[in-house]
Amino acid sequence: MGSRRDFIKLSAMATGSLMVPNILHANHRALTKTNNLAKKPIVISTWNHGLKANKVAWDILKNGGSALDAAELGVRIVESDPNNMSVGIGGRPDRDGTVSLDACIMDHQSNCGAVAYLQHIENPISVARKVMEKTPHVMLAGDGALQFALENGFKKTNLLTKEAVREWKEWLKQSEYKPKINVENHDTIGMLTLDAEGNLAGSCTTSGMAYKLPGRVGDSPIIGAGLFVDGDVGAACATGVGEAVIRIAGSSIIVELMRSGATPQEACDEGVNRIIKKHKNLNNLQVGFLALDKAGNVGASSVFAGFDYAIHTSNKEELIEATFQKQWE
Ligand code: ASP
Repeated sequence: MGSRRDFIKLSAMATGSLMVPNILHANHRALTKTNNLAKKPIVISTWNHGLKANKVAWDILKNGGSALDAAELGVRIVESDPNNMSVGIGGRPDRDGTVSLDACIMDHQSNCGAVAYLQHIENPISVARKVMEKTPHVMLAGDGALQFALENGFKKTNLLTKEAVREWKEWLKQSEYKPKINVENHDTIGMLTLDAEGNLAGSCTTSGMAYKLPGRVGDSPIIGAGLFVDGDVGAACATGVGEAVIRIAGSSIIVELMRSGATPQEACDEGVNRIIKKHKNLNNLQVGFLALDKAGNVGASSVFAGFDYAIHTSNKEELIEATFQKQWE
């Protein structure tokens, strides 16, 4: 692994100037402290729904369970909550009123599985795991993913709740496609876990952008964009505007930066800054990254304020606001 000085040299070469993360948030100090305290096992996940997901994951991790089981079962509880309108059952539909789900999962040995544009199935993360474990493929999409799920014992469920229909009908009055920043119209759960044996895993699951075009798939089921795990280095996941994350191969970039010597925090800040650099119009372009290295150090960063993540270790269970790189204009 390269030294920190190599990393800075590398970034300077890549950008033409020294990368100085513009840390604006007061919580940075708290975050740094958390980094120093973090020990395995550990679980982190995006947004406040991460708190209850982490509880499930933590129960597995603290009893010596695997990072992979924790990452799958942790996010399932959010998928199965009909009151959560951005993941699993209860997710907001696309423009035409259809709910479609995206998810992926990855372990420390680079085994991975994903489903995209999956309809009628409450727990896409578990279907993704089955794709990983039972097929020679990484991703199944649409009708093929549904057929595979049904063949593997998953049951058809109506994912469209009354509340989601009510909101969608409201939206139809204007039919304006304008993602609202930090509002629950796009709040994936991404989870990163490190177990007692030192193995990493991650999961990512979402109903995607509310009122998206039918057929749209975001970053969340794409290995390297919404999630990436390298058992020798670390793991990263993303939330926010998926198109922006895909454009920079977000999660894989963050893991590569860590491989080059960046801390998880530096890597997340740099990932966010790349997104900022590549987009002329940042209006409503919120993206948040989470990272966890093999030693249990944590990083989190977003374009704008408002992205938070949940952490659970043996001595800490809380929601932390991530650092951010841009002030609201
Ligand atoms: N990244 C997800 C997507 O673009 C949405 C989100 O995380 O808010 O589908």
